[in-house]
Amino acid sequence: MKIDLKQANDRQTAFLRKAYERKRLSHAYLFEDALPQEALATACWLFCLINCTGAQKPDGTCWQCQRILNGEHPDFFRLKALNQATISIDQVRSLKSELAKTPKEGQWRFFVIEEAEKLTQEAANALLNLLEEPVAPVVTILVTRNAAQIIPTVRSRTQILYFDRFSEQRSEKKEIFFDDMTATETASLENRSDLDQAIQYFCQELLAHQTMALIQAHQIAAQAKNAAAVKYVLFSLQQWSQKTFEKGTDLTQGAHLLELMLRVNAMSASHVSLNNCLDYLVLNF
Ligand SMILES: [Zn+2]
Repeated sequence: MKIDLKQANDRQTAFLRKAYERKRLSHAYLFEDALPQEALATACWLFCLINCTGAQKPDGTCWQCQRILNGEHPDFFRLKALNQATISIDQVRSLKSELAKTPKEGQWRFFVIEEAEKLTQEAANALLNLLEEPVAPVVTILVTRNAAQIIPTVRSRTQILYFDRFSEQRSEKKEIFFDDMTATETASLENRSDLDQAIQYFCQELLAHQTMALIQAHQIAAQAKNAAAVKYVLFSLQQWSQKTFEKGTDLTQGAHLLELMLRVNAMSASHVSLNNCLDYLVLNF
């Protein structure tokens, strides 16, 4: 079935365009969307953006875009459960064997796994090393209606984009916030994208109450080598707490998190180390 770029989610495509232009595309995304067709169109939009030969990228009409939308591009792979209840390990292996080859045309290869919650445990495990150590330029996008149904080890290796209305507003706020920070206080940060990634994993693990959160906290602390970086970490976490609170799915949890962040900020102001601050956050959440 032909995919219609008009179905792509405007806010998410704006976010992805920015990431692409800043060369900060993640190699693995998890799209949580109640409308799988919208998430799929957004995934295709991204691959069109990367490959489009038109002036207004992505135009959806050039030869490259057309082949992607028609499912005929040799570097574009869609995986789904077909008529079965699950996505099997053999299906994942076929992706991995593709990855061993060089892309047929462009620089990138693109994998979209639909209904990712249907991955069997075996298949999900096979997917893990594809997600953590891509040997070639590849973007893998998992699409699901419910990110909570994806096993944590897979989830924590992806950047999650929530497509529901509230989340879109939140990601917009996050962008504004990070832009402000970039211009003024984060100019000296050399490893900002590493930090961002570490912070993101930390937040995901923390919300899921995973023990990995503590390990991730120590990695953040090790990466935040100067005062500007520590400040950046705390601001990012504060912003994320605010977001979690505004999401409104669990107000008590959100309020608790915000309260903890206020305490953590006070601790940091009293020269408690970032490592200890984050430990406090994990152990009290
Ligand atoms: Zn095009």
